[in-house]
Amino acid sequence: MEITINHKNVNKEQVQQDAVPVFKVNNLNLWYGQDHALKDIKFDIPEKQVTAIIGPSGCGKSTFIKTLNRMVEMVPIVRMSGEINYRGRNIFDSKYGVEELRTQVGMVFQKPNPFPKSIYENIAYGPKIHGIKNKKVLDEVVEKSLRGAAIWDEVKDRLHENAFGLSGGQQQRLCIARCLAIEPDVILMDEPTSALDPISTLKVEELVQELKKEYSIVIVTHNMQQAARISDRTAFFLNGEVIEFTDTSTLFSNPSDKRTEDYITGRFG
Ligand code: ADP
Ligand code: MG
Repeated sequence: MEITINHKNVNKEQVQQDAVPVFKVNNLNLWYGQDHALKDIKFDIPEKQVTAIIGPSGCGKSTFIKTLNRMVEMVPIVRMSGEINYRGRNIFDSKYGVEELRTQVGMVFQKPNPFPKSIYENIAYGPKIHGIKNKKVLDEVVEKSLRGAAIWDEVKDRLHENAFGLSGGQQQRLCIARCLAIEPDVILMDEPTSALDPISTLKVEELVQELKKEYSIVIVTHNMQQAARISDRTAFFLNGEVIEFTDTSTLFSNPSDKRTEDYITGRFG
């Protein structure tokens, strides 16, 4: 199956030429054993924009974003071919440590997963691992990260209480703050609001809009309204392929591929 290229996409690519790509992915294939989960993926991720990935369950969305921080390789049966460049560096280069990559490319998961520690320690943990010991510096990192994730006011008087005492929505913003504390460049989010109530979802969506001023964000969502609300570009995945990847308004108002149209109009998925 070839990747559809039409005039609309070509024009958009030209419009987007100014956007610096943080990731350039080419000819990426991935197999779980015999299961061909990603097929010839070509994908540039622009800097300081929100890139949404939509598509039905099992189409490879999570697999794809986990290739970007090399988390997918934790599955022993995974085989991969192709190229992934992060700011011009081949992420598979043996000189490029996975730990270094993961400080630049942070991740937020579907279910909030705070550590069983205090709110403060959840945030200070990463910076401590990176060698920051000074209490004053740590205090500053904790405050800055919690402010950055729009949760400081809610937790500033209970920093030493266990993170499990927070609501689900607060826990997810805490996890975003934990990610900010290691000063990433790119933030990968895998359905970050699917376990949250509507009000918490709205808060996270507003936060994403705020964060894109400083970070490049890739968000997987199976909520198409969410992709339409918060992303600049959207990719539609189906059966391990990128069917269409263009600016969000075009994808939702004037898709170029019949399969995209069928999906966004609710004919399947
Ligand atoms: P999505 O996030 O779009 O729902 P996934 O990336 O989780 O899709 O899955 C894509 C395909 O890869 C599915 O067929 C799924 O069964 C398979 N897959 C995902 N994770 C694993 C794994 N750890 N081991 C084997 N197959 C997997
Ligand atoms: Mg998934």
